[in-house]
Amino acid sequence: MTTVTTSRYDDVLERYDAVLGLETHVELGTVTKLFCGCSTAFGAEPNSQVCPTCLGLPGSLPVTNGTAIDYSIKIGLALHCDIADWCRFARKNYFYPDMPKDYQTSQYDEPLCTDGYLDVTVDGETFRVEIERVHLEEDTGKSLHVGGATGRIHGATHSLVDYNRAGIPLVEIVTRPVRGTGHKAAEVARAYVTELRDILRDLGVSDVRMEQGSLRCDVNLSLMPKGATELGTRTETKNVNSLRSVEQAVRHEVERQAALLDAGERIVQETRHFHEDTGTTSPGRSKEEAQDYRYFPEPDLVPLAPPAEQVEAIRASLPEPPSVRRARFAGANGFTAVDIDQMTNAGVIDLVASTIDGGASPTKAKGWWLGYLVGRANELGEEVTELAIGPAEVVRISALEDDGSLTNKLARQVADAVLAGEGGVDEVIDAHGWKVAGEDELIAAIDAVIADNADTADKVRGGNLGAVGPLVGAVMKATGGAADAKRARELILEKLGQS
Ligand SMILES: [Zn+2]
Repeated sequence: MTTVTTSRYDDVLERYDAVLGLETHVELGTVTKLFCGCSTAFGAEPNSQVCPTCLGLPGSLPVTNGTAIDYSIKIGLALHCDIADWCRFARKNYFYPDMPKDYQTSQYDEPLCTDGYLDVTVDGETFRVEIERVHLEEDTGKSLHVGGATGRIHGATHSLVDYNRAGIPLVEIVTRPVRGTGHKAAEVARAYVTELRDILRDLGVSDVRMEQGSLRCDVNLSLMPKGATELGTRTETKNVNSLRSVEQAVRHEVERQAALLDAGERIVQETRHFHEDTGTTSPGRSKEEAQDYRYFPEPDLVPLAPPAEQVEAIRASLPEPPSVRRARFAGANGFTAVDIDQMTNAGVIDLVASTIDGGASPTKAKGWWLGYLVGRANELGEEVTELAIGPAEVVRISALEDDGSLTNKLARQVADAVLAGEGGVDEVIDAHGWKVAGEDELIAAIDAVIADNADTADKVRGGNLGAVGPLVGAVMKATGGAADAKRARELILEKLGQS
C-alpha cells in the first residue's frame, strides 16, 4: 500500500482556491511630513517632531507636500497605473488616541492612481497581480502600552502616545483579489511584496524597512471551494512586518479557515493580529465598513490636479524596473531565469551581487547564500539580510576555500561561528585553530592510516581502487575533517603505486 503524505496546507489547496488581497503601506522618504514642515526622521525623542498642524490643534491649516505627490505619482507609474488629472483628499472619521484630529486625511473615492499591475514570478511561472488603487494619506501616531507582558493593550497598566509619526506621508497600494495561484498562494504573496519593495527602493521614494515599519503589509485572505463562483468571507491580517511573515500569515490563514469551513462553521469577517513568534494569527476587531468612516472631501485642502507635463516628466525619469536589471545580472553571471527567481524570492539577490562584486565566483556566491545561509536564517528565525554574516565575510570564506585553506566542511563551521557572533572570519579561524592540514601533516596522517590498515592498503596496491575510499575516510577522521579529501586521495594512490 502506498501512502501519500501532503502537508495540511497542500491538502487544503487541493480542495479550496485561495483568494489573496494585499494592502501595502509605505512611508515616503520625504524630509518633512505630508501637511506640515515637521521632520520625518526615525527614532527621535517621542513628541519632539510635532507642531499644531500634525497635532490637529484648532485653527491650524495643512499645506500639501509637493514631493510626496511626486513620489506617489512615481509609484503609480512604476505600477502601470493611470494617474488622475484631478482628485481630492478625504476625511476618514474615526476616534483613536494616536490620531489627535479624530480623522485621518486620506483619499477615498478619488485616488491619485488607479488600475495598474505588477507581474511576479515564482518557480518560472508568472502571475499578474492587478493593482486597484494607489492613494496618499497621512500616517497616525504610535501608541505604546506599558506595564503588561506583551506590549499589547491587554494587561497594560497605562498607555503613552508618540505623535512623531503622525502626518508622515503614507502611500497605500491595494491589489484587486488575486486568484488562480493554486499551491503557490503563499509564495506569490511573498514574491509580490518582495518585488514591490525592490521597486520602491529603486525609485528612491522610501527606505522600505519592514522592521522599522516604513513598509507594512495587510494580508487579506479568503477560501472558496473548488468550482465555487462566489468569493468567501475574508480576514485581514494587519501589519505583517517581514517577507517571511507574509508567507507564514497566508499559510496559517489557509489552514485555519479550512479547518473552520471543513467543520461547517463560518468565517468571521475581522482584522487579525499576526504573531511573529508562533507564525499564527489571533482575532482583532471586527471589520468596519466604509460607511462607518463617514468619508467626506477634505475642505481645508485644494484638490490635486497634476498637469500632464509633470506626470510625463516623472515617467521619463523612472529607473529601469528591477526585472530588467535582474535579467542583465543573470546574463553577466551565467544565471538561469529559475536561479534569478529563487534568489529574488529568497531575498538574497542583492547579497549575491555584492558577494560577486567582492570577488567570489557567481556559483560560489549563489551556493553560499541560497544553498546555506537562507536555511540558517530560517532556522534562526531571522531575515537573511539581518544575519551577522554579510557579503564581505562570504567573499573571505570563499577565497579561503578556493586557495585550499578551508575544506567545505570547515568553511561552514567558520560561517556558523561568524553567525553566532564569535567574530570575523580570520578571528574565528585563529580562535578555533581551523586550518586545513598542511602537506606534511597530511602525509604523516596517511602514513599512519596505511600502517593501521595494511589489508586495505594491499588491496589498493593490488589494483582495487574502490578500496581507497575507506582510507581517505580514515585520514579525514584522523585530521578532524581538516584535510582536503581530494588531495588526500591523490597522495594515498601515489604512495600505494597507483598514481
Ligand atoms: Zn507638524
